[in-house]
Amino acid sequence: MTESTPRRFQGDTLVIASHNKGKVREIADLLGAYVARFPSAGELNLAEPEETENSFIGNARLKALAAAKASGLPALADDSGLAVDALDGAPGIYSARWAGPEKDFLLAIEKVRRELMDSADRKGDRASFVCALAIAWPDGHVETVEGYSHGQLTFPPRGDKGFGYDPIFIPDGHSVTYAELSAQEKHAISHRADAFRQLVEKCFR
Ligand code: IMP
Repeated sequence: MTESTPRRFQGDTLVIASHNKGKVREIADLLGAYVARFPSAGELNLAEPEETENSFIGNARLKALAAAKASGLPALADDSGLAVDALDGAPGIYSARWAGPEKDFLLAIEKVRRELMDSADRKGDRASFVCALAIAWPDGHVETVEGYSHGQLTFPPRGDKGFGYDPIFIPDGHSVTYAELSAQEKHAISHRADAFRQLVEKCFR
C-alpha cells in the first residue's frame, strides 16, 4: 500500500469515541450500511482525553487514537464547531466551551454578536460550520476528513429547531437559518453530511 492510498475500514466493529448518546446514535445511523456494531467510548468506560490540539482535525485525531489504543479496535471521533471569518475562526474548537458549563447557547450566541461588534477589522458576517472526522486503528494509523458548510450570520437568532449556533447561521443558497430548516433539510447540506460523504468515499466503499 502506498502512502497516499487511504486505509479502508474492514471488520464489523467500530468504536465511536464519544460519550454523547445522541452523537453515537447519529453516527450509527450514518454508517449503519457498512458497520454492524458501534460500541461507544461511554459504554466501554474509556477515559475522555483532554482536547489539547489547536485544530478540529488535531482534536478528532487525538480522540480517535486514544479510543483505538484503549479498546484495541478501530475508532471514529469527530470534532466540530462554528468558525467566524471576522473573528479569525473563533469560536472554532472552543465552540462548545463558549456556552459555559451550563451549555447556554444563547450566551454563546450573544458572545459572538458582541465580539463581532467589537472587531476593529470588520470583514462582514461570513462564517462556516466545520466537522472533522478521524478513524484510528490500534497500530496508530489514522485517516481524517474535514467537511464544511459556508454561510453568513444573522442577529437576532431565528428558529427553534436544531441546537447550538443553528439559529444565527444562514447557509449559502438559503434565506433561513439552520434552526428554521427541518432536520432532513439540514442533514442534506450540513458540514457533518459533507464530512461523512467524504469519509464513506475514502474508507468505506
Ligand atoms: P464537539 O461536540 O466537541 O465537537 O462540539 C461541537 C460544538 O460545536 C457544539 O457544542 C456546538 O456548539 C457547535 N456545533 C457543531 N455542529 C453544530 C451544528 O450543526 N449546529 C450548531 N452548532 C454546532
